[in-house]
Amino acid sequence: MNHSDQPSGRSARDIAFDEAEAFLADIGRTPVDASASVDDVVAALDGPLPVDGSAPSVVVEELVDALRPGVVASSGPRYFGFVTGGALESTVAAEWLASAWDQNAALEVLSPAMAAVEEVAAGWVLGVLGLPGRASVGFVTGGTMANFVGLAAGRHRLLADAGWDVEADGLAGAPPLRLVCGAEAHASLFNAAQYLGLGSATWQRVEVDAQGRMRPDILRDVLDDGDGPALVAAQAGNVNSGAFDPLPEIVEACCGDDVWLHLDGAFGLWVRASDQLGHLAAGAERADSWAVDAHKWLNVPYDCGIAIVGDPAAHRAAMTIGAAYLTPGTGRDGIDHAPEASRRARGLGVYAALRELGRGGLAHVVERCCRLARRFADALDDVDGVTVTNEVVINQVVVAFDPPPGQDAAAFRDRVVAAIQRDGTCWAGPTTWQDVPSMRISVSNWRTTDNDIDRSVAAVLAAHRHCREAVTSPGG
Ligand SMILES: *Cc1c(COP(=O)(O)O)cnc(C)c1O
Repeated sequence: MNHSDQPSGRSARDIAFDEAEAFLADIGRTPVDASASVDDVVAALDGPLPVDGSAPSVVVEELVDALRPGVVASSGPRYFGFVTGGALESTVAAEWLASAWDQNAALEVLSPAMAAVEEVAAGWVLGVLGLPGRASVGFVTGGTMANFVGLAAGRHRLLADAGWDVEADGLAGAPPLRLVCGAEAHASLFNAAQYLGLGSATWQRVEVDAQGRMRPDILRDVLDDGDGPALVAAQAGNVNSGAFDPLPEIVEACCGDDVWLHLDGAFGLWVRASDQLGHLAAGAERADSWAVDAHKWLNVPYDCGIAIVGDPAAHRAAMTIGAAYLTPGTGRDGIDHAPEASRRARGLGVYAALRELGRGGLAHVVERCCRLARRFADALDDVDGVTVTNEVVINQVVVAFDPPPGQDAAAFRDRVVAAIQRDGTCWAGPTTWQDVPSMRISVSNWRTTDNDIDRSVAAVLAAHRHCREAVTSPGG
């Protein structure tokens, strides 16, 4: 390589490392939102693809300069958008190794190291979540794919029991499957059904209560009223309210042989790591499959989700691929547990997070986030024109802003949320909850402290006050 192409004298890896160090050192101090738009960043990057290559250090230096203004501090302590974790220190370092080692986690023979670390991580996940030890685990990209894998395994089991080989013969002519979920099910379940050829619009949606919890009495009626095998999806942790479906009663309603119960616990299932909060998801261990995210509350970097199936044969049948050159291992091959063949070892980050935190540390992160969400809610709920509209059971807070007279509620909410994001102290996004335009706050980051909450409360209230005054002042 021509060293004159390295103006700073640093290697590509040093440039990336120095940038990462500086970014992470400042993450609680800089504005949370990006300062550049997509168009700004494109303008800084774009141009015809050069015929000649560039030194790696030049590529990385240019990337840092062009992208940094468009980076959101979403892994920082005052980012409350969506449900977003911050990457724990060992997980970032482990991900660097994953790239440097560049291992393919498809087969044992491709990387004994990655097969082993995923095996250990899988066992730890089952242990800390209190799920059956016989369950099989697949490391996937997120909750959406984990839901997909769980439903695929359920589709296999229910149809195999009805004498149909869905993997070989597809769905045309298959016994019909009923799909049942709560009216507040996460959108990714519809997506999963779409990919599985089951149809995103075929779900029967069971009425929920005011917190978004599935009504088990109605679920029972729906199951009793219909015929044939049913895939039921329950939820541990509503993406807005954090509410848990009443799992013990749902498990009872789903005890028939021709019912497969899948549990979407993308972030909520982690409460089972805590003695204080685990009761919210009591009974979860009796479901047939589970979806959980690692890049949310476990604070592993994107992307990482975990698909868990209580019937390993169904999991494998739904996911495996076979070819003469794909030598099976003696134990657990990644290729049998996820939709991908070649695959990054996502379980490495899960191992690192669980080892860094320990069982107790994970319980602390979960409990602290819930306590901080309550602190946020208590501070906001006292204020004129601001209402917390959910029961704050875990880390989620839903906030409604009374619109000033004559103002549209959604437009006013949009102005307040935009003012909060522009201010840069913290970041929260909009939603609609119980038909009311609202703002959602999710406290999911291991770094967040009491002080972060207090600063964020002040910023939210200042933005709210500013928007109210702008409306009431003449010409405002
Ligand atoms: C986030 C979430 C999902 C989807 O997870 P991704 O990781 O974004 O694919 C599914 N269900 C629930 C309840 C979620 O909160």
